[in-house]
Amino acid sequence: MTPTPLEAQYALEVYPRRGIDIARGQGAQLWDSEGNEYLDCAAGVGVANVGHSNPAVAKAIAQQAEILVTCPGIFYNDQRGVLMQRLVQLSPPGLNRVFLCNSGAESTEAAIKLARASTGRTGLVSAMRGFHGRTLGSLSATFKYRDAFEPLLPGCTFVPLNNIEKLDNAVDDTTAAVILEIIQGEGGVRPAEARYLAAARRFCDERGTILIVDEVQTGFCRTGRFFACEHFDLVPDIMCLAKGIAGGVPMGAVLCGDRIQASVGVHGSTFGGNPLACAAAVAAIEFMLDEDLAGRANQLGQYFVAQFSHNLPELVREVRQFGLMIGIELKQKATPYLQALLERRVLALPAGPTVIRLLPPLVISKSQLDEAVSALHEVL
Ligand code: PLP
Repeated sequence: MTPTPLEAQYALEVYPRRGIDIARGQGAQLWDSEGNEYLDCAAGVGVANVGHSNPAVAKAIAQQAEILVTCPGIFYNDQRGVLMQRLVQLSPPGLNRVFLCNSGAESTEAAIKLARASTGRTGLVSAMRGFHGRTLGSLSATFKYRDAFEPLLPGCTFVPLNNIEKLDNAVDDTTAAVILEIIQGEGGVRPAEARYLAAARRFCDERGTILIVDEVQTGFCRTGRFFACEHFDLVPDIMCLAKGIAGGVPMGAVLCGDRIQASVGVHGSTFGGNPLACAAAVAAIEFMLDEDLAGRANQLGQYFVAQFSHNLPELVREVRQFGLMIGIELKQKATPYLQALLERRVLALPAGPTVIRLLPPLVISKSQLDEAVSALHEVL
């Protein structure tokens, strides 16, 4: 299989390519330009939660494209209002203001700025193995990929996830924000513990620090709840969203509680909250609710683990599963096994050197999951 020649010729090669082109998708299936079919357990890195080419989303995009595509934030817009209301209704209590942007990194970038503006402080505490994006601000809170870009934001401290004492020592009256994923995605599908999240909430309250929860990967039903915060009854001051929000159309969102103060001019985005993306997001969210994708992710994730664990390959060190966010930790490097899965036409992702990560569309069927399980058993 060869890469799409035109793209191979022109693209700045920043991605580790897999050597296939993807031309079309439907639900949890993808096809390359030669018509070969693939089972998608990557969902565009956790984006296509409602499935590829979701008919409700496609219809909303087509309709909105004929009505209004662009509308800057200086004007109100009906689609944007409906989306913001929906997001507030679905979010933990008290998160009642929304800023819309265009990606996960933009949402964490905005969160960092808002925390700084609201506290007048600059310190940032985040977790080792955490991932929050690749813009210079979001990268400052990200554990990897930073070396070539130093110096980044000053005052950033990394603490080991789930070590309460280290967190206690790191958060002080210079800390603008603590930023955490509820379940680390890129870092290996590693969950924060309930008592750790409760301690983070308490330290932030005691010390005037903003608690930012990055739900870019865990949001929108992925972990078996609408938002992963719900597993722990955690109410952050800021919640960052993106990926699955708009059925694959680029969008990010920042949900803010009362402690966030924003005045005119603090932040902005030309494309953020454009009506086309908003209409796609409203349709995607209604689909998630109508089809109970959170419940589905919960059941199907458990089904997957039950099937996979019959006859668990010797090579597997641990399986970590939260809805349809699944990490299979191996005793060896994951890359050759990801390649072997690709040869069997199953697309999966790495998460650190030894973890195979599965983030399938949440509309995947049991029989498709069975296919994934047999492919995994074969290659492992
Ligand atoms: N935050 C988390 C938890 C992510 O998983 C990602 C992307 O994988 C990001 C932020 C960055 O999102 P984007 O790639 O849309 O900028």
